[in-house]
Amino acid sequence: MGKIAESERIIGHYRGAENGPLVVAIGGIHGNEPAGVLALERLFEMLADEPRLNPGFSFKGEFLALRGNLEALALGKRFIDVDLNRIWRPLEGRPDQSSTSEDHELHELLAAIETAVEEAPLSELILLDIHTTTAQGGIFAITGDDAPSLSLAAEMSVPVIKGMLSGLQGTTLHYFRGNHFATNLPVRAISFEAGNHEDPLSVDLALAATINLLRALGCVKDEDVNSFHDQLLRERAANLPRLTELTYVHKIDHHGGDGFQMKPGYKNFQPVLKGELLATDKSGSITAPTDGYLLMPLYQKQGDEGFFIVRNYKFPLAY
Ligand SMILES: [Zn+2]
Repeated sequence: MGKIAESERIIGHYRGAENGPLVVAIGGIHGNEPAGVLALERLFEMLADEPRLNPGFSFKGEFLALRGNLEALALGKRFIDVDLNRIWRPLEGRPDQSSTSEDHELHELLAAIETAVEEAPLSELILLDIHTTTAQGGIFAITGDDAPSLSLAAEMSVPVIKGMLSGLQGTTLHYFRGNHFATNLPVRAISFEAGNHEDPLSVDLALAATINLLRALGCVKDEDVNSFHDQLLRERAANLPRLTELTYVHKIDHHGGDGFQMKPGYKNFQPVLKGELLATDKSGSITAPTDGYLLMPLYQKQGDEGFFIVRNYKFPLAY
């Protein structure tokens, strides 16, 4: 029991006394988003300290935390050659092996996860992929549309976005939901956006959300490993829509010298109206094709999506 491995790639691998889920958490899949890495490093310090503060402490299952894009993290860039969160495909579906810096990163991440899956007496496999955004405002979780992932994300006490997988390809969520690991056990996958890249509170929010996930899974008890940031997490989530679904993605074509420029001042979950001028590119004005809430307006050079629009999700009526 306790911390069993550590390396440049592995932030920590905590093996509890009782069998339970294997929780894989990744920070820094994008190298300019270090908040997730810092939060996971702090969580491992807390786990190491917990038995001293709380002699009755025990952990159920295993917790493996990984640094995502090492090269890009060292340079503080989103990626070196290609976006590491767009290339998660099984080996046979990847074009030219190890041709880019990110192919190498993906290979190492998958090796670490596959080893843990093979070794762990797991009851379930869970992914938590922690990100931050260039825009201000708004924390949220993105999941597949499977009910078990959605309900787990809701238990983190943060807004949840449905339908994002249809708007993207090759993300960590696609890979985990796609049954590519050597296990027949259930797999749930959640990606958490912890706030703005530079906001120091994004680290606290990522830490609180990760602990909420471990609590929801029964890995730790409610009274254990207290980050003291739950209140902050609830405050940040308080006025945001609880459950929304993707309605539109604006894709950027970098090869065509797109010239995408988001209008300044937009925030996550900012309400927009159909026809509102949101951005410009070489073809001219880009307006909102529909009413909704804006998500992840892009205020950096690297990135394939200019913005997303989501709307309140209404549960389908039974009859
Ligand atoms: Zn990211």
